[in-house]
Amino acid sequence: MSFHASIITLFPDIFPGPLGTSVIGRGMEKGAWSLQTHFLRDYASDKHRTVDDTPSGGGAGMVLRADILAAALDDAAPEHDQRPKILMSPRGKPLTQALVRDLARGPGAVLVCGRFEGVDQRVIEARNLEEISIGDYVLAGGEVAAMVLLEAVVRLLPGVLGAAESHADESFENGLLEYPQYTRPQDFEGREIPDVLTSGDHGRIEKWRRDQSEALTRERRPDLWAGMQQKP
Ligand code: SAH
Repeated sequence: MSFHASIITLFPDIFPGPLGTSVIGRGMEKGAWSLQTHFLRDYASDKHRTVDDTPSGGGAGMVLRADILAAALDDAAPEHDQRPKILMSPRGKPLTQALVRDLARGPGAVLVCGRFEGVDQRVIEARNLEEISIGDYVLAGGEVAAMVLLEAVVRLLPGVLGAAESHADESFENGLLEYPQYTRPQDFEGREIPDVLTSGDHGRIEKWRRDQSEALTRERRPDLWAGMQQKP
């Protein structure tokens, strides 16, 4: 079973974009995941292929129409489709590594990329869209946000990263930020690699890394650190 992403967008040409390169792109070539775009204008019914209209109640900008988005969703994900239907949205649940891991365990995702002022609330409710945000800032559209989500998910799929690029130790995997990394040369502009890392003493190395991770997390991300302290 491989992970299948369906993307509803006004800009299908920008996919796969960065998702076609490096380990993520090779993962697609190997069949670990696949991607299909659905061009929202194909679901419009008038000759101008209109997908948006002015906001009810007034105000600036345009809103994506519920009926057109619903037609695209019903085509991308028929009733038996088990994949979560996600709307990229600054109002959504924050994307976290825990959420990414959940998605990577599933059969895929249907991702709606908003544009303009957003989408009609009724399609969010009628099609049970889960809103997900990639951070507290506003983008011009959901496409880059969908790519961020997919890149994070796909690298966790079986067979995508080799053993050499394992993710067990990474930032967030254990609730902590990652420790500092070093490689040759031994001396860089007078800065040495910390002695412990070249000592060969695996117990000391592990303890040093753990201490560094904890100190970094406490200093940079008191929110993550507080969450860690609450866990049993
Ligand atoms: N008026 C909206 C913002 C619309 S931005 C508001 O104030 O909430 C246009 C589209 O970009 C959104 O529909 C969404 O799909 C996408 N987008 C913008 N910021 C995003 C974010 N932080 N995370 C995920 N998607 C985002």
